[in-house]
Amino acid sequence: MSKKQFKAESKRLLDLMINSIYTNKEIFLREIISNASDAIDKRYYKAASEGRTGLSRDDFFIRIDRDDENRTLSVTDNGIGMTAHELEDNLGVIARSGSLTFKKENEDAIKDTDIIGQFGVGFYSAFMVSKNIKVISLADGETQAYKWESDGTSGYTVEPAERSEVGTTIILTLRDDTEEEKYSEYLTEFKIRDLIRKYSDYIRYPILMEITDVREKAATPEERAAEGYEPEYEDFKHDITLNSMVPLWKKKKSEITEEEYNGFYRNKFLDWNDPLKVIHTNVEGVISYDALLYIPSEVPFNYYAHDWKRGLQLYSSGVLIMSACEDLLPEYYGFVRGLVDSQDLSLNISREMLQHDRQLKAIAQRLEKKIRDTLLDMQEKERDKYCKMFENFGLQIKYGIYDNYGANKDKLQDLLMFKSSTTDEYTTFKEYISRMADDQKFIYYSAGDTPEKLAKMPQMDPFKERGYEVLFCSDEIDEFVIKILAQYDGKYFKSVSDKDLGFEISDEEKKAAEERNEQAKEVLAAVKEALGDDVASVIVSTRLKDHPVCFASGEGLSIEMEKVLKARAEAIGEKTDDLKAEKILELNADHSFFKALQAAVAQNNKEKIEDYARLLYDQALIIEGMPVPDPVDFSKRICKLMK
Ligand code: ADP
Repeated sequence: MSKKQFKAESKRLLDLMINSIYTNKEIFLREIISNASDAIDKRYYKAASEGRTGLSRDDFFIRIDRDDENRTLSVTDNGIGMTAHELEDNLGVIARSGSLTFKKENEDAIKDTDIIGQFGVGFYSAFMVSKNIKVISLADGETQAYKWESDGTSGYTVEPAERSEVGTTIILTLRDDTEEEKYSEYLTEFKIRDLIRKYSDYIRYPILMEITDVREKAATPEERAAEGYEPEYEDFKHDITLNSMVPLWKKKKSEITEEEYNGFYRNKFLDWNDPLKVIHTNVEGVISYDALLYIPSEVPFNYYAHDWKRGLQLYSSGVLIMSACEDLLPEYYGFVRGLVDSQDLSLNISREMLQHDRQLKAIAQRLEKKIRDTLLDMQEKERDKYCKMFENFGLQIKYGIYDNYGANKDKLQDLLMFKSSTTDEYTTFKEYISRMADDQKFIYYSAGDTPEKLAKMPQMDPFKERGYEVLFCSDEIDEFVIKILAQYDGKYFKSVSDKDLGFEISDEEKKAAEERNEQAKEVLAAVKEALGDDVASVIVSTRLKDHPVCFASGEGLSIEMEKVLKARAEAIGEKTDDLKAEKILELNADHSFFKALQAAVAQNNKEKIEDYARLLYDQALIIEGMPVPDPVDFSKRICKLMK
């Protein structure tokens, strides 16, 4: 028997492969199992196309055998097998894929089989963990079996061998253990089960393995009944099927129970809780795929941590390709978990990355639409569930609107909800608009800490009076989101703190307001002088009814935005000096304090004017939830009043 060298290029390629194509050694088993599954598909297809009967899908299997003593791991299939020539051709020339040729020659086969191979390198990944590989195969329709053997570096041999069953056995002699790599791990039942479940769970044929269990020794009823009977135990070996074979997502929706969906989710995504919502879709078309998506009912414990991996599991014909494919999910739906299975992906050689992302993009687009439609449907028909989703993940959606300068706002704005001044429930923009008063032009909002606090703000007075609803924006990002949106369905947003509230005001009212400012001119000027640049202006308020004082925002940053941005900047040690909202101090001229202020101005009592002005300013800050710049000073001035 002469030893043949791998073709020169092949030798280099083999080296390259073993060392660089795969980053993850454990995928060798996935490759070998996928080859076995392909071989069975081919045999089944061939028999069917030649009109041979007698073989049914149930007759096929893949078997894994472990031999600790000899450090061998064997994978046997009763697929199509290889002739001596094919052993040489398929395994002697690296990067020649018998499966690809088969697919090309039998285009129809692709329809009803799931042939996976196409690059002709998967087999060699086994050299990453093996120091020797033997392949013993009897091809369908032949009588003589052959053995191919190689240590991966010095070439290979092919010689006749003993084997009576059609099919192939691949025998891997594992490399010796080193400090870094314990190759013997691949002989343990645990590791093999783990790998099959991870990568090959949905191979369509049973992957069998013999395992050892303990059982009670047989005993007659009399023996058992006898006094002092102690059961004895013995080891026994039996075969188990390692893979679940039929992927849940390939089953008909009508045949899947809720518990099946939920159980699958809990196992696969390691969640204690059932999902809030299941989205299952099977798409046939230019690009066919199945997707099974879940919206978790609780925020996963590591969701906001760095180790959270956004993305969906990606399968190609039931074989796991990527465990978190980010390209399949936009960031704002990053909370969705699930998987996509498609035959139509162009994989690259290692199956670790995708060759082109065109198909992937198309799938991602459709999934995004599906998720949005499902969410909107929930919002309409299952409001409680939707609210739960929104409380958990609404922030993510808000960031989605804000990011990229609002590029995705149109897709996301209908998913938003806010509490409001007229309802304790969440409300959408659409619902808000449907309730707007006839003379109301804007969508009003108020931004701050909590809906409860916002409801009490002095700025709410004119809205209560007019019966206008105000949306409460209590997440830090809310006002930034509103600014990015600018308008919804032609209605512009307006803050209740805006200096111009956009109410319909009669000429008389306007005139009256001007007159009041004119009358109070000296008082306003005195307060402005006392406060200097801390305020942009001081005016007599038209909005305040009971409260003495409040701020209105001028152009640019709002007061709430200043608060949020300052807190952020301070947290990372950045300067905050130029983060300043234009503050307009509004005074209630009908309030009793105003007379005291007027008196101080009339007496030209500078100290009193200063005290009053500072106290009013500090009160306005406190109402906004902002820190008083000099609390000690504030306290002193209050005590002065108590004298
Ligand atoms: P691929 O699976 O991408 O085609 P591989 O390097 O894994 O590439 O395998 C090379 C070829 O060897 C396969 O295309 C197939 O023709 C053949 N082959 C590998 N394993 C088996 C097997 N168990 N039974 C029959 N043919 C096999």
